[in-house]
Amino acid sequence: MFEPIERVPGDAILGLIEAFNNDSNPDKVDLGVGVYRDEQGITPVMRAVKAAEQQLIDDEKTKAYIGSHGDPEYGHFVLETVLGANSPVLAANRASATQSPGGTGALRLAADFIASQLPGKSIWLSDPTWPNHLGVFSAAGLNLEKYPYVDADNRLDFDGMLAALKAIPEGDVVLLHACCHNPTGFDLSHEQWQQVLDVVRDRGLLPLVDFAYQGFGDGLDEDAFGVRLLAENLDEVIITQSCSKNFGIYRERTGCFIAIARNSEDMEDVRSQLAITARENYSNPPAHGSAIVATIFNSPELTAMWREELGEMRGRINQLRQDFVAALAPHGLDQRFAHVAEQRGMFSYTGLTADHVAQLRDKHSIYMVKSGRANVAGLSKDNLDYVCNAIADVVK
Ligand code: PMP
Repeated sequence: MFEPIERVPGDAILGLIEAFNNDSNPDKVDLGVGVYRDEQGITPVMRAVKAAEQQLIDDEKTKAYIGSHGDPEYGHFVLETVLGANSPVLAANRASATQSPGGTGALRLAADFIASQLPGKSIWLSDPTWPNHLGVFSAAGLNLEKYPYVDADNRLDFDGMLAALKAIPEGDVVLLHACCHNPTGFDLSHEQWQQVLDVVRDRGLLPLVDFAYQGFGDGLDEDAFGVRLLAENLDEVIITQSCSKNFGIYRERTGCFIAIARNSEDMEDVRSQLAITARENYSNPPAHGSAIVATIFNSPELTAMWREELGEMRGRINQLRQDFVAALAPHGLDQRFAHVAEQRGMFSYTGLTADHVAQLRDKHSIYMVKSGRANVAGLSKDNLDYVCNAIADVVK
C-alpha cells in the first residue's frame, strides 16, 4: 500500500539549516532560522522561565489532564496581556481563551472552527505571509485567497492592501499579523490600523489576528495596538496567540485561541464548540508551558524579571536594525536599506533578490531565505561588518 507514496521535499528552512551546518567556513552566518538569538548566537532559556521551572519541580502536585480549554489561570493571564487588564472586552465578558499547542495549534483550532461553524467562508492572507498559514488553513479544507502586502520593490504596499480588503466578499475571514509581520517586518501604523478597522467593519469581515510576537516590536502594550483596536470596536474577532517567542518556550508548545463575541451568550456558544475542536484534535493541550507562564504571572518578581529580559531582547533586535543600516553607510547603501531600521520583529524583507541571496551563500557563507528575508537576531557585533561587506559586494 505504501509503494505508490511519493517523497516530498522537506521544509526549505530545514534545508537551509542543514546546508549551514555542513559549511566549514568559520565566518559563516545563519540569518535563516526563525528563532531569537542572543549576542552569542544562543536561543536562551529566559531567567524567569528557569526560575518558574525550578518552582514547578518542587510544587507540581499532579500530571492529570488540564481540560480541553487548558489552564484557566493561564487563559486569564493571556487575555489580560493581549487585550489589556482594563479592557472593556474583558469587563463585558465577551472574550474566551482556549489554550493551544503553540500559536500553530491556535491557528489550526481557528481553521477547524471556521471550516465547521462558518462553512463557505474563504480566508484572505497577506502576500507574502508565514508559509505555514497556507499549510494549516488548506489542511483544514478552507479556500485560501490573498491580498497584496508588498510592492514590486518589496516595500509595504498599504494602498494595495486596503484596496484589496475593500473588494473582499462580505463575511469572509481576513488574517492580519498583529505586529512583527513574518516574513516582511513591515507593520501598520496606528492610522493604517484605523483604516483597516473601517474597511473590516464596512465589509462585515471577520478578522483573525495572528499575534505571535507580542513584546518583540515596540513593547507589550504598543504591539497590541491593532488587536485591541479591533477587539474594542468590532463585535467579533478571533486572535491566535503564541508564547513561543516572548517567553522563549518554543518547544513547550504554548499558545491560545481567543474568540471575541458580541456578548457573553455568543461567547459561551463559540467556547463550547472550541472544546470539541480541541478534543478532536489532541484532547488536552500540554501543561508545562502554561504552568511556566502562570507561575511567572502569579509572581510580581518573576513578572518583572520576564518583562526586563523581554525588553533586552527587543532592544537588541531594534539596535541591530540601526547598526545594520549604519554599517552599510560607508558602502553608500544606507538609503537603500533604510527600511530595515523601520521594520519590527525578528524578520526583515531586506530587498535582496534571490540572486543576491545565492551569492551571499556561495561566496560568503551567509544563509538566508530566497525571498531575501533575514532574521535580524542572527546578526551580532562580531559578524555585522562581515555581513555588510558581503552585501556591498553582491549588490554592486
Ligand atoms: N504565526 C506566525 C506569524 C509565526 O511566525 C509563528 C512562528 N514562526 C507562529 C504563528 C507559530 O508559532 P508557534 O506554533 O511556534 O507558537
